[in-house]
This record gives sequence, structure tokens and C-alpha cells, in this order.
Amino acid sequence: MTTYICYVAGRGGISHIVSAMRTALVGRTTTRFDAMSAIGPAPRPGSIIEAVERSGRRVDVRWDDGIVLSTDLRFSGQWHVYRPNEAWRRNTYEARAIIEVDGWVAVCFNAPLLETFRVPDRARHPHSGGVGPDISLRRPDLVEITRRLLSYKAGDTSICDVLADQSVITGLGNVDRSETLWAVGLSPFAPVIDLSYEDCAVLVEAAARIVKSRTREDGGYEHSVYSRNGQRCPRCRGTVAHGHCEERSRALYWCPDCQQKLDRRLIPAQLVADDHTPTHPAEILYMADVRAARQRLKIDDDLTRFG
Ligand SMILES: [Zn+2]
Repeated sequence: MTTYICYVAGRGGISHIVSAMRTALVGRTTTRFDAMSAIGPAPRPGSIIEAVERSGRRVDVRWDDGIVLSTDLRFSGQWHVYRPNEAWRRNTYEARAIIEVDGWVAVCFNAPLLETFRVPDRARHPHSGGVGPDISLRRPDLVEITRRLLSYKAGDTSICDVLADQSVITGLGNVDRSETLWAVGLSPFAPVIDLSYEDCAVLVEAAARIVKSRTREDGGYEHSVYSRNGQRCPRCRGTVAHGHCEERSRALYWCPDCQQKLDRRLIPAQLVADDHTPTHPAEILYMADVRAARQRLKIDDDLTRFG
């Protein structure tokens, strides 16, 4: 026989109802969510309730997809927790929000303020788009930027364009971009798909270092290639070139002599014929390494997403 419990938040009873809501809801899959008059996003069907939090007379319910239902109870509002077939102790028309999980129904009645919103949480949504991590922070999330580079959807996009894409990385200025690519010897025209895990990690670390040195030295930082077109490259004595990134038409400076890494345009035509199967042993080894790195990353990713 089921024990039917009804918790009603009365005077001083709010901590009891919050504990009851935690017991009933936290860790459970949402089977129904209805916030009649609230404007804002709703949790995805099947999303899991992560927490019920209380601050004074405000009760917030938080879902694992980043949605929060915030209810300010003031004097008139109440939360009740019922069994599915139990009769409510208030009128249906007074309900402002209903959350159903297996075995329980939580109803918010008469809350004067009720809203839903999404908490920006990049760690929770690594692939949901939005804005990439800010590399100019004191402790930037380099792992996440590396991951965004490796999982970039349009693989043929050149790396100089990808580095200007705010969904991958923010806080990397135009000067930093040219300087970073020069520092790692990477061709600005390398398609992002050709970058291995190591290439991406080294690139992101170099970017962080360059951004840091720029801010520390307060503009006194001397450029290696930026706005030095026609001058000698400090590394190979080649001539620094000037151009634009295809998609974003922002100035790009690079050394065509020592920034050749992964530049497909420099591969002899017979190797880039219809058949892309590598033939040279070193190339086969290299390609296998790239695939292994991507596979490893995908497995890690699946583990964090489903585990
Ligand atoms: Zn050079």
C-alpha cells in the first residue's frame, strides 16, 4: 500500500516543502512540465531535475539541461507535493506550475513571481553552439577551445577563419591571430580538419601565451609578422606576406616560407588526385595518428556526455 504524503508550505514550513520537493524530484526524469503563465524556456522532455534550491521565500528548480524555474512565493505562494492520483488541496486554476516525475507531482500555487530561464553553462553544453571560451581570462579553458577546434563542423574552413569564429574562441584579437599562427609555424590556410589533437593543443597554448604577453607588456610587445609585410621574417629571413582571411576579410600577416605546415596548396597535385589514400609510410603513420587522436577525443566526449 502506498503512503500518500502531502506537504504544504505554510508559515515556517518552507524548509519542509523544499526537503519534500528534493526527495520527490531530484535525480528524477521529468514526465510533465507546465508553467502556465511563465514566459521563458521549458526543460526538454525527459530532462532530469538536478536541484531544488531555496533562498528566503524563493524556490528554484534546476534541470540538467540548464533550465531553471524560479518561483518567488512572497506571502501567497505555496508549493505542494502530491502522489499522482491524490486530490489537490487547492483549486486547479490557482496552479502556476506543475512538475511531474515518476510517482510524484509538485504544484506551485499562486506564486506572484514565476519565471524560467537558461543558465549559461559551457561545461554542460560543449556542443550547443553559443560563444567559445575567452582566452584572455587569467585561466582560460584551453581544453574546451581545443575541443571546439577538433569538433569544428565545417572541416574545410581554413584555420585563420576558424580562429576568428566567436563560437570557438573569444578574446583573440586580429593581431594575436596572425602572431599565433606564425609562432607555431602553421599555414593560415590549413583546413581545420587536417589539424591533429597535438596541433590544436599547441596552437591554443601559443594563443594563450601571446594574449598574455600582449596584455602584460601593455602594447610594448613587438610583432613578428603583424603589419610587417615586406619585411624579413625574424625566424627564417623570408618575406612577410599580407592578405585577408577569406570569410571575414580581416587583415592577415604570415611568412610563406616558414608557415607551410598543413598547407594543402603546397602538396604536389598528383598526391591530391581523386584518391586521397596516403601512400608514403610517413604519411600513413601521420594520418593514422590523426584518426587515433580524434577517435580518443570522441570516446572521451561520449563518456562525459552519456556517462
Ligand atoms: Zn619565416
